[in-house]
Amino acid sequence: MTIGKQKADVLISGASIVTMDDERSVINDGALAVDGQTIVAVGKSKDVLQRFEAKQIIDGSRFVISPGMVNGHIHVTGDPLTRAWLPDNIDADFEEELTKWVLPRFYAHEPEDECASTELAALKMLRTGTTCFLEAGTVRHLDHVVEGARRTGIRGRVGCWVEGRNYQSADQSKSIGEAIRDLENAAARFPASNDEKIAAWPVLIGHSTNPDEVWQAAKKIADENGLGVSAHMSPYDVDPKWFLEHTGRRPVEHLADIGVLGSNVCLTHLAHIDQSEQDLLAETGTNAVLCPLAALKGAFGLSNVGRFPEMAAAGVNILLGSDGFDQDMLRQAQLVSALFKDTRQDAGVFPAEDMLTMLTRNGAAGLGLEQDIGSLEIGKKADFVCHDTDRPEWQPLVATVNQLAWLADGRSVHSVWVDGIRVIDNYQSTQVDEAELYARAQRSAAAVIERAGLPFISPWPVG
Ligand SMILES: [Zn+2]
Repeated sequence: MTIGKQKADVLISGASIVTMDDERSVINDGALAVDGQTIVAVGKSKDVLQRFEAKQIIDGSRFVISPGMVNGHIHVTGDPLTRAWLPDNIDADFEEELTKWVLPRFYAHEPEDECASTELAALKMLRTGTTCFLEAGTVRHLDHVVEGARRTGIRGRVGCWVEGRNYQSADQSKSIGEAIRDLENAAARFPASNDEKIAAWPVLIGHSTNPDEVWQAAKKIADENGLGVSAHMSPYDVDPKWFLEHTGRRPVEHLADIGVLGSNVCLTHLAHIDQSEQDLLAETGTNAVLCPLAALKGAFGLSNVGRFPEMAAAGVNILLGSDGFDQDMLRQAQLVSALFKDTRQDAGVFPAEDMLTMLTRNGAAGLGLEQDIGSLEIGKKADFVCHDTDRPEWQPLVATVNQLAWLADGRSVHSVWVDGIRVIDNYQSTQVDEAELYARAQRSAAAVIERAGLPFISPWPVG
C-alpha cells in the first residue's frame, strides 16, 4: 500500500535545530516543514523528507535553526532615529536628562517619522533574529507605527502613549478620562486575533505617570480582551521613594494592593525592588523585563542591587528587552549572563540554556503567545531564524547551543520566517527596500533633531 505524502509549502533539511520544546531537543541533521503559517513537522531529515512533499525544499546544511527571539521592551519611536544624539557625558540627573534630552526628541516626531522609525527598528530586529516585540509605551501616532511594523512582516504588540497624571493641572479627572479612552480605542482598533501579527495592548509608561484608575482600567481592558499590560518601574530608587511618599507602600506592593499584577502584566527594569516585591511578582505570575544594556549604560546600579538570579530562582518569568538600544538580543543575553555570573562570583548563573530560554519561551509567555511561538513544534506559528554557520564566528561547529548563546550574534542571521513568510533572505529584507528606508530615516532624523532644537555636544572636534 502506498501512502501519499503530506503537503508542505517549505521544507528545510540538513540543519541543526534548537527546538526549545519541553525537552529542549536539539536535532542534528534535522528538518522543519511549514505549511501556510504553521510548522507541520520538526524531526530528523530522513523522516521528514519521507513523510512530506514540499513545493520548495531548502538545503539547510549551513544553518542552525532556532525559534525567533522576543524583544520584551523596545521603544520603536523616539530612540531608533536619534538616540545617538544624546551624549554620555551630559551633566544631568535622571529628571533633567528626561526633560531636556529624551522627551523633546520623542515629541519632535511627526507621524511619518514614527513610521520610518518603527520600520527601521523592526528591520534591525528581524535582521538580528527577533521576530516579535513588545513596545514600551511611547508611541504618539499609533496608526503610523502599526503601518511601519506591518510593512516589515514582524509580529508585535504596541500601544499608545497615555499619561493619566497631569502634573500641570489640579483637575485630574480630564486626563484620567482621556487616558482610559485612548487605551480602549487602541485595543478596539487593533485587536489581537490569530491572523493579525500586530495588535495593541494597554501599554503604560508606568513609574508615577498614571493614577490608580488608569492602571486598573488598563488591567481590565487586558483581562477582557486577552491582552497584556506593560509598564516601566523602578530603574532607579526614584520610583520606590515616590510610592512610599504617596502611598506608604513600595511600587510593586502598591500595584498588588490595587489588583493590577498578574501573568498578563510585564514590568520593565525592576532594578530597585525588595524581597517583599520579589515575592509578590512570583506569587502573582507577573513578568519581569530586563534590559541589560539600558540598565548598565543608564547606571541603574544593577550590579549592586539587581535581584534577577534570585527572581528567576523564585519562579518569576524573566524576559529580555533592548529598551532604546541595540536590538541584537543575543548580545543582550550575553550581557545579562556575564553580569550576574560576575556579581554572584558564580559561573553557573544564567547558563547558555537559560539565556536561550529567556529569549524565546519566556518572551512568548510574557506576551501571552506561548501557544503560538517560543519553540519549534508542530502546530506552532512558523516564526524561526536560520543562523549561518558558514562564518568565522561559528566555525568549527562543535556545540550548537553554547555557540548560539555565546559566540554568535545577530550578524549571522541569514534568513528569518515570520508567520510562514520568509521576511529576511540572504541577509536582506524581502518586504522593504532597505536603501530607500535608510534614506527616509536619515531625513527624518535630521528633521527631528532640528525640531527638538538640541545642541550637538562632543568633546572631540567634529566638522
Ligand atoms: Zn523603556
